[in-house]
Amino acid sequence: MLTGKQIAVLGGDARQLEIIRKLTELDAKVALVGFEQLDHAFTGASKERLDEVDFSQVDAIILPVPGTNLEGEIDTIFSNEKIVLTKEIVEQTPEHCTIFSGITNKYLDELVKQTDRKLIQLFERDDVAIYNSIPTVEGTIMMAIQHTDFTIHGSNIVVLGLGRVGMSVARTFHHLGGKLKVGARKSEHLARISEMGLNPFHLDDLKQQISDCDILINTIPAHVVTAQVISKMPSHTLIIDLASKPGGTDFRYAEKRGVKALLAPGLPGIVAPKTAGQILANVLSQLLQDETDGKESSQ
Ligand code: NAP
Repeated sequence: MLTGKQIAVLGGDARQLEIIRKLTELDAKVALVGFEQLDHAFTGASKERLDEVDFSQVDAIILPVPGTNLEGEIDTIFSNEKIVLTKEIVEQTPEHCTIFSGITNKYLDELVKQTDRKLIQLFERDDVAIYNSIPTVEGTIMMAIQHTDFTIHGSNIVVLGLGRVGMSVARTFHHLGGKLKVGARKSEHLARISEMGLNPFHLDDLKQQISDCDILINTIPAHVVTAQVISKMPSHTLIIDLASKPGGTDFRYAEKRGVKALLAPGLPGIVAPKTAGQILANVLSQLLQDETDGKESSQ
């Protein structure tokens, strides 16, 4: 339980609602900033303006998945209020106050350094990334269906990368009857791909592996799907690039060659905001409870 904990939730999208629900269920006292247009009321949570929050009593600040922008502004879809997380605000908090965010940037890094507060980036954690890979894969299947006129079953599918997303993508498309080849650069990844019953290849050989590719799914956040690679693909190939912006594909060249290439960021928040919110809510509430119990996080 989080009885006695005071938590400020600043801005966000539908995913924050699951976090607020969970925190109030666990009996935390929650201040909601940037939610005045939200119809729903949560018992134990009060909607406040930023200047109304008593930050000297706040044990944790929860930011939306993107954190802040480079000027410290926080996005919210439930308000027109401009919310800026400043050094002055963070300095008012008790020393033990932890800031939670999905990802960070220069502004947030500098802010926590200057104020000597702890920042936890939830998206850096393996557990969050692995759980998030589930809605990501479902969104990828949706895109593959929407943008092709053939079935996944029986198609030649190339997956690049065997990280947390790549492994889930490769396994699921294999189970849907796709003929999978998976490209990686580490020998242990090639071994794992083999063990999964899929066809491994080294990324150095990518150009030789895609002449019969129907769908290419990239999960590598580096420029791997180059013009040279695209030039060796059949023109009907669909490229779904899941890597974070700007992706790993030469989109300009793909368009020039008439190969359909789609950058697909943020699929969990698009296809399953409720689940994506619950994933964050579960991990976040566990971390807050561990802090209360004096346990160190295992990641
Ligand atoms: P991850 O676990 O770190 O996996 C990344 C994979 O890329 C690993 O197999 C890694 O191999 C490989 N890789 C990285 N840099 C490489 C390079 N320069 N050359 C060759 N291989 C390289 O990351 P993840 O959690 O799977 O996420 C993958 C990407 O998807 C990230 O950009 C993430 O932000 C994004 N993502 C997107 C969505 C969405 O909705 N589109 C959802 C979740 C995540 P090594 O081990 O050899 O480095």
